[in-house]
Amino acid sequence: MATLTQSGRVESRYGGQAFPIELDGVTHDYGTRLALDRLSFQVGRAEIFGLLGPNGSGKTTLFRILSTLMVPTGGAARIQGYDAAREPNKVRQQTGIVFQARSVDIKLTVAENLKHQGHLYGLSGRHLKTRIDEVLSRVGLLDRARDKVETLSGGQQRRVELAKGLIHSPSVLLLDEPSTGLDPGARRDLWLYLRMLRDQEGVTVLVTTHLMEEAEHCDRLAILSEGKLVALGSPAELKSQIGGDVVTFETAGPEQAARLAEMMANRFVAGPAVLGNRVRVEREQGHRFVTEVVEAFPGAVQSVSVAKPSLEDVFIDRTGHRFWNEDQPETEPKKKGRH
Ligand code: ADP
Repeated sequence: MATLTQSGRVESRYGGQAFPIELDGVTHDYGTRLALDRLSFQVGRAEIFGLLGPNGSGKTTLFRILSTLMVPTGGAARIQGYDAAREPNKVRQQTGIVFQARSVDIKLTVAENLKHQGHLYGLSGRHLKTRIDEVLSRVGLLDRARDKVETLSGGQQRRVELAKGLIHSPSVLLLDEPSTGLDPGARRDLWLYLRMLRDQEGVTVLVTTHLMEEAEHCDRLAILSEGKLVALGSPAELKSQIGGDVVTFETAGPEQAARLAEMMANRFVAGPAVLGNRVRVEREQGHRFVTEVVEAFPGAVQSVSVAKPSLEDVFIDRTGHRFWNEDQPETEPKKKGRH
């Protein structure tokens, strides 16, 4: 267990220092609904950490707790050892926050926005001016310092948000769904900046995302489902925990899928998963298994895909259901060739 020092800072066992981010049984109950259920994990220094989950899994709730906007009903969230509920000011000094919604004033110039933000953190004078130039050159916007934010593209405005979050040199940066509304080029740029911050300044970055594609960029992930932690590890580790290939058989409908799964379970494997009109199996040597199934049950299968496990497969494996509901529009392209 962590121990409290007199200053209120938690001493911990991470190379003699507190973890940049530490959750200790964090629980949040909105009254009728348990949004977070005893989450515990730590994020290390200079790590890009992803909080991945479908809508309603609790990402926003946790983000708000880490940002000191909300107090959890149970457990503790700590940033650099400071409890977000009890020492919000200390936490805010350590943390840069980039919300999904725009927080810059578009009628002001880029530099003016950063100046105001700097004042909020007690920065002023020459030091602030130098810092504004530093963060703007860091995000590639030094030449736009005197332009009004409204004249910038969406991707550039997001970079101003990032610069604003970095003005007070935080050691932890929290970003809520950072890719939302960005075109592919701007997304690529954003990830370049995040890696630069990690590698050159040792900043710990936490991003929330519902996009598998984005989660793939993270060093480690916590996958949430209905407020519970269902997986924790690097994308590669999580995928490698799934045995062999993921084989998906498409049938004429849900009833046919259930029948095929039952026949397969009797004859070949335990526990094929039925997902709508598809049957999904994890299996070594997937191609060979496809031949066996198609020969054993002629006419039962309409199409087949064999793929290496994806993060969605990790989610299905841990929860028994798909990341996306069938009626929920996806905001990322489906993995090609799998359905
Ligand atoms: P996510 O960001 O992953 O979509 P949220 O943290 O917004 O998830 O929501 C987690 C759960 O808490 C959901 O079931 C949601 O309906 C519920 N929830 C979120 N905000 C409130 C609120 N203000 N009052 C009641 N329930 C809420």
